[in-house]
Amino acid sequence: MDRHRRERKMKAAGRRKRSLRVLTGLCLVTVLGALALYSSGYARALFSGIRGRLEARVPGNGPGSDLGDNPGSEPGKDPAGGLGDSPGAAGPGVQPGGDQPGDSSDRPDGEPEAPLDDAELARLRVNELGKVPIIMYHDIQDYEAEWVRSRSNFRSDLERFYNLGYSLVLLSDYLNGNMNVPAGRAPLVLTFDDGTRGQFSMIESDEGPIPDPDCAVGILLEFSRSHPDFGNAATFFVYSSPFGASQVEEKFRFLIENGMEIGNHTMTHENLAYVSPEVVAKEIGRLANEVKDKCGYDTVSLALPYGGYPKSTENLLTGTWDGREYENKGILLVGAEPAPSPFSKKFNPLAVPRIRGSQEELDKWLGEFQKYPDARFVSDGRSDTVTIREGDDGNLNPERVGERTVRTYVLPVSTGASDSKSE
Ligand SMILES: [Zn+2]
Repeated sequence: MDRHRRERKMKAAGRRKRSLRVLTGLCLVTVLGALALYSSGYARALFSGIRGRLEARVPGNGPGSDLGDNPGSEPGKDPAGGLGDSPGAAGPGVQPGGDQPGDSSDRPDGEPEAPLDDAELARLRVNELGKVPIIMYHDIQDYEAEWVRSRSNFRSDLERFYNLGYSLVLLSDYLNGNMNVPAGRAPLVLTFDDGTRGQFSMIESDEGPIPDPDCAVGILLEFSRSHPDFGNAATFFVYSSPFGASQVEEKFRFLIENGMEIGNHTMTHENLAYVSPEVVAKEIGRLANEVKDKCGYDTVSLALPYGGYPKSTENLLTGTWDGREYENKGILLVGAEPAPSPFSKKFNPLAVPRIRGSQEELDKWLGEFQKYPDARFVSDGRSDTVTIREGDDGNLNPERVGERTVRTYVLPVSTGASDSKSE
């Protein structure tokens, strides 16, 4: 997203914030009352096992906390091979970070870039059949734990992504093949599971409620203000009563109005591996309907709770609940490798892999891409064109390319990567 569009969005957010002040005032008494009840443990006891499960998964949230039961008890083990074992990898002789990403952040709003010439494509190592890291975070807190990224580490992650040439795309844009990042930059997708308070909480300001600068949303917005070509796209996979169950509608609207989005994590965080297709439809449809009713937004992606995959794919991508249809363009796994290009024959909407936002996994996969830079997706700066290297067209899925123009160029041998193929 460029600077102009961002400024307009921030102004719109400002107007909305002022109108929210009145609403917030009205809600304050109710919220305080509910909080008092909740903290007394009275209301807590009234909640179903849904809330109990949520709290059990958050470390340090009292007795019953057991990380062993966590979604996290990681169904998806890392594949044995890294990028280097894939046909997409260049040889070990390729040096990391050989080319600097292009800078197109100053182009005027809405004006398409002129197509790059072949020399420029080669200099930037454009490769729209390369792989895309989709990062999976859970909570963001003061400390680091298995399913928690510390705030300072999260800030460092953003800096690291940026410095390695990544810019953010929305998951829905990845799923639809709209890879709208500046030429020469590599798309990266941020996802956050479970809708925790650490991901999104609001504080009062003179202009009304604003994101807490120490929650994931606040940290991301702050970083993107100083790095506009990085963007602030992120997808929040929520189930019922997300973000501390306070100001949920306002938070949903804020996300949508500020270039972020909401994903489906089922209504009750059910492990879909053990339920019938009817329950799959109920879990997905109820949450989709709730999000739609709260903010008018259609969720278009599902992250499987605990990574649990249903025995049947029935009702996963499309289904009906309560007389209302839903559609998921992608089913997100818990693990455990970079995702294929959305234009690749390897792209499978029923199984889109993610990389855990932990130090170990980030070091591993970002390191792999530094070692094998030709394995990653690098944008041509245009979402109406799919630019690939000569010889790679066998990996292209024409249905996924759709109406877009395919452009092929030759990567000269002198760049040291002419024999690479990516998908
Ligand atoms: Zn979850």
